[in-house]
Amino acid sequence: MEDTSYDAIVVGSGPGGASCATLLQKRGIRTLIVEKNDFVGGKMVSIEKDGYAYDLFPHGQVPMRGSQFEAIFDELGVRDEFEPALEPDDDRDIIKIAYRKRGWDEYRFTVQGQAMADPTPFFKLWDMDTEAEQKVLAFMTGLVTMPEEEIDRLDDLTMHEYLIEQDVPFELYSYLAFHANASLAEPIDLVSASEQVRIMRQMMLQGGGGQYKGGFGTLAKVMIREFEKNGGTMITNARVEKIVIENGAATGVVTAQGTFRAPIVVSSAGIQPTVLKLVGEEHFDRSYANYVKGLVPGWAFTSVRYFLDKPVMDVAMYVAYADESWIDMERFIRMKEGHIPDEVILFMVNHSFYDEKAAPPGKQVLVSGTICSPDPDAKEIEGLWKVMDKQMQRFFPEIWAATERREYAGPREISSLTRDAVLPGQGGECVGLGQVVGQCGRDKPSVTAPIRGLYYAGTDAGAAGMGTHQATLSGTEVARLVGHELRRRQKMQ
Ligand SMILES: Cc1cc2nc3c(=O)[nH]c(=O)nc-3n(C[C@H](O)[C@H](O)[C@H](O)COP(=O)(O)OP(=O)(O)OC[C@H]3O[C@@H](n4cnc5c(N)ncnc54)[C@H](O)[C@@H]3O)c2cc1C
Repeated sequence: MEDTSYDAIVVGSGPGGASCATLLQKRGIRTLIVEKNDFVGGKMVSIEKDGYAYDLFPHGQVPMRGSQFEAIFDELGVRDEFEPALEPDDDRDIIKIAYRKRGWDEYRFTVQGQAMADPTPFFKLWDMDTEAEQKVLAFMTGLVTMPEEEIDRLDDLTMHEYLIEQDVPFELYSYLAFHANASLAEPIDLVSASEQVRIMRQMMLQGGGGQYKGGFGTLAKVMIREFEKNGGTMITNARVEKIVIENGAATGVVTAQGTFRAPIVVSSAGIQPTVLKLVGEEHFDRSYANYVKGLVPGWAFTSVRYFLDKPVMDVAMYVAYADESWIDMERFIRMKEGHIPDEVILFMVNHSFYDEKAAPPGKQVLVSGTICSPDPDAKEIEGLWKVMDKQMQRFFPEIWAATERREYAGPREISSLTRDAVLPGQGGECVGLGQVVGQCGRDKPSVTAPIRGLYYAGTDAGAAGMGTHQATLSGTEVARLVGHELRRRQKMQ
């Protein structure tokens, strides 16, 4: 089968691909989506199984108010279907935070609303003196009021370097080291300070950590439904094996279901898989191929899903960290050498809080995760599951007796469902390319490939922020550029 009737082909239907394709089609550009899975949404997928409903990967939106999804739903004319499960200003205590300071035997706890603008509960949790509190307050105020140019300057600093420069109290450093792991899946001594500051600000000003009615997967389903309603074509179970390059330009894709042709190909399969596998590095300048090979992947999360015959958690989200449990490069290297830590950070989500139908009556599904390497073959993952199980029992002593079934997942599952491993140690990334110094802000890879008609959409290119929001910002930017390029080509004909 060979088809030439498209203006654009989009590889992948995660938030990057789906947002780009649905905007292109809405703007009258005839678009084909080619998706390797038999479901849409990429990592942003919601599952319904055995009476339970839960999300496999993304669990918390940042920002809750003013995310790029809102803008896309507006343009599609389906604003009424944009339904956060919690309003950003919902004043219930939603997030429980457990913290153990070095030297404390036990964890101490606090609870917070969704928009984490008030530091007072942290002051109590961290057990700080007044001088330290004043320093934290000054730092947080500075963060909220920081001009954009100042944030741009932070592209070149790791968060660790920035916090040392600012001389913040250790309690705040420790929390932000945990935050780098939990919200960006990065270590504090690699993550770009500009990226972390932007996310922190959004959490404080626009809310963070919320969910959507029907789960994150609903967002992808609505975008794809509108895409098809507007005349777009989607094929699933169709892995793109090759992106066709002719006379230095992208002209189509080859799949087991046939070859499809279009003057524009947008890949959301990731820059490294696109350049090194789908196109082939021989089509690129050697320096560009080397640049792509040298890009640093983000880290991953490994999860345990607990299917419980009675509820054990009463908040929406529960996070736990200790001064010894967040991972920086030194601790990561120790873990790689085989020293599995006794304690890990935990990020736990209770879907029933958002949606009472998320579990059969009287039951509960909890998803718990911790940071890990993106390597699908990482040896430490099973060791981490054991520590996570042990820690879950520490926080919920009744969980073991209540567990009907557990599911374990890690970078191998993430890679097989979404992103091909084309370089050693890469494939299971949460966000895509690492949000690290040298790859963020002005150094973020461009959405335009150095091949005519080839673009990258998704978290690898062109945008900043938390995973799904960043992917849709990138998809939106690519849709704008593709519109320009097609109009320019038309004028030249
Ligand atoms: C464990 C975990 C937790 C996360 N938590 C959050 C969170 O709380 N909040 C948040 O905002 N983000 C979170 N993220 C990140 C978020 O899921 C990603 O940033 C986002 O999904 C990336 O979107 P994307 O479109 O760039 O890529 P993906 O979602 O990976 O989509 C890529 C698509 O391309 C398809 N594809 C790939 N190769 C081919 C091919 N050769 N042919 C055809 N199709 C192909 C894939 O099947 C997939 O559908 C999390 C991710 C993980 C793994």
